[in-house]
Amino acid sequence: MYQVRRVHIGKTDQLDELARECGRLYSQTLVSFWRTVRHKGIWLKPKHLMRWYPSDKLHAHTADACVQAFFASLRSWRERKKAGEPDAKPPRKRKWYFRIEYKRSAMGLKDGMLRLSNGRGNEPLVLNWPWELPVTVVIHWTGTQYEAIATYEQQRAYGPFPGGKVAGIDLGEVHMAVSHDGERTSILNGRLLRSKRQYQNKLKARLQARIDVKKKGSQRRKKLTAAKSRQLRKLKNQIKDIEHKQTTWLITTLHEQGVQTVVIGDVRDIRQDNDVGHTNNQKIHQWSHGSIRFKLTYKAERLGMEVALQAEHYTSRTCPCCGHVRSKVKGRVFRCPKCGWTYHRDGVGAMNIRYKYRGEFGVPHVVADMAPATGIRHLPHTRVAREQSRENVCVGNCTEAAGL
Ligand SMILES: [Zn+2]
Repeated sequence: MYQVRRVHIGKTDQLDELARECGRLYSQTLVSFWRTVRHKGIWLKPKHLMRWYPSDKLHAHTADACVQAFFASLRSWRERKKAGEPDAKPPRKRKWYFRIEYKRSAMGLKDGMLRLSNGRGNEPLVLNWPWELPVTVVIHWTGTQYEAIATYEQQRAYGPFPGGKVAGIDLGEVHMAVSHDGERTSILNGRLLRSKRQYQNKLKARLQARIDVKKKGSQRRKKLTAAKSRQLRKLKNQIKDIEHKQTTWLITTLHEQGVQTVVIGDVRDIRQDNDVGHTNNQKIHQWSHGSIRFKLTYKAERLGMEVALQAEHYTSRTCPCCGHVRSKVKGRVFRCPKCGWTYHRDGVGAMNIRYKYRGEFGVPHVVADMAPATGIRHLPHTRVAREQSRENVCVGNCTEAAGL
């Protein structure tokens, strides 16, 4: 398993020159490869092209990485073509700048400075580095400055124990995620995230309208476009921050409670063939369950937990108490018409996802004295989200007024 660290490192002439040299090598590899295909009908291998063009500005392994990068994208094109993707295109474009990759062999760490060698006789690239020595460092351009992505190999904390606690997680649009581990139900409040996303839509429309009336190519239009991307970038970062803090809270809490397996409701096909009107379509398409699922998955695996996906059909409509399947669920509260049991709706979803995974879905359970659901609110300027104060906590028979 790998972990990455991203560091912004600004823009210097040295970085520009290194990126240009990598671009030159990548482009030469690309041109020579396709030229050989065209003239001789031979598809060369990485070993044929590596060291074909020597570089006196880069470490030998950095130069190799440029050649390998070309073959990696060639490989991914072949795989996509094999999978039947019609718009898969082979790498054909030359690049004037390309990412700079350093392997462990070219690194040295001393006194909090990471020294990245560019080969004998060349000035090394030195970065401020108060961390440990990474396995690889890739430097790429983000559009405004360079960013170093350092990769670390991570040992799993410990393997999952069979028979350990299982938690079900229901991903939702209103609540980012709701978990249930057999005793406790935790709700990640998605309200703040939703309001950010709504504001994002409004801001996008408002700024675009202001840009559209300006003449193309005018100074004013350029300035407005820059302002738009700056403001949207800020919002995007805020959204990312919320998602990270909330998911970290949930996973560490589940881990502390001894959960070994995390089962996430599979909602991947919800977007296909599902027309629910303009407003709801926008909601569903902006619902970032993919990124939430991804964050939950890697954070759980990092702590040694196992992650499984579970199809979630009927999980929000079936009563955990008596097994009755409702035709429709309205509102935020699940109320069973047969046995009268009530609970937070998304909590029911998480409960049933867990039961499904354990093969006990749709059969009656003793849930009468289930602990009330705990709401988790995002607080800015803390490392992770915090539990909501008791008064605002949604109790078993919660209503909309509970503030969740
Ligand atoms: Zn029931």
